Amino acid sequence: MHIDLNGKSALVTGASRGIGAAIALRLGEAGARVGLHYRSGETEVKDLAQRVPGSQIFRADLEDMQEVRNLFDDAVAAFGGLDIVVNNAGVAVRVDETETGRAWEEAWDTTLNVNLKSVTLLCRLAVQHFTTRGGGRIINISSRAAFRGDTKEYMDYAASKGGVVALTRSIARAFGRQGVLAFNVAPGWTRTAMAQDVIDEHGEQYVVDDLALNTLTEPDDVATIVTFLASGLADHATGSTIDVNAGSYVH
Ligand code: NAP
Repeated sequence: MHIDLNGKSALVTGASRGIGAAIALRLGEAGARVGLHYRSGETEVKDLAQRVPGSQIFRADLEDMQEVRNLFDDAVAAFGGLDIVVNNAGVAVRVDETETGRAWEEAWDTTLNVNLKSVTLLCRLAVQHFTTRGGGRIINISSRAAFRGDTKEYMDYAASKGGVVALTRSIARAFGRQGVLAFNVAPGWTRTAMAQDVIDEHGEQYVVDDLALNTLTEPDDVATIVTFLASGLADHATGSTIDVNAGSYVH
């Protein structure tokens, strides 16, 4: 069994760092041309592009739906079409449930816009695009929080990720006959900037104690699963979620 993505084009959101950068590297290694999306990590994404032959860089703020549309159109134009869309970019915005001011609403707006609305729009554009060219694969990065729930400070995050799971399942059910496959990947703690705040506050052992394995999940542990799903070897698993949480939440 060999993964060969030669001739395929993929868009990876949030490729400037963390899990997205690892996904871009693995897809590129498998032969895909990869669209590397970023918002603020220009230096990082330029460095990454050097390591992913045939890649192209796209900037968009996923809070702005016009920028999301432009991102998709630009990637399609650059590669002459897309076969794979990986919705990886995300934010975890902490908000105290006792917050009374605008901050509570702003946290929910930002979280839902970046983690769910932009993902929904990119999925919508991908479905429209894929159905005109015989199909394609969508891989959405959700979270363990979608299933287990999160702490009270991250309810916005958990709710947005639950939305991503339901969205992905719906796409799989609605558009399978048109060749559109849709998968969820749900990481638990993974060694990236997003997990770093908690590691800095409580130490790495605190995070590892939550796992059934001895080591923290690395971005590449997620990237290899995404590459497998992108390959076509798992198409009859459409609509499903692969947990990558080191056995910390088995459901
Ligand atoms: P990360 O290191 O914080 O990277 C987040 C990425 O999202 C960056 O590339 C960032 O781009 C991009 N991004 C954030 N806000 C954006 C916006 N408004 N517009 C455009 N891009 C934006 O996070 P990560 O840990 O790799 O997370 C990747 C995915 O895995 C996320 O969906 C996250 O929810 C999920 N996840 C992570 C963990 C974990 O423990 N790390 C656990 C479960 C799920 P710039 O840096 O260029 O601005």
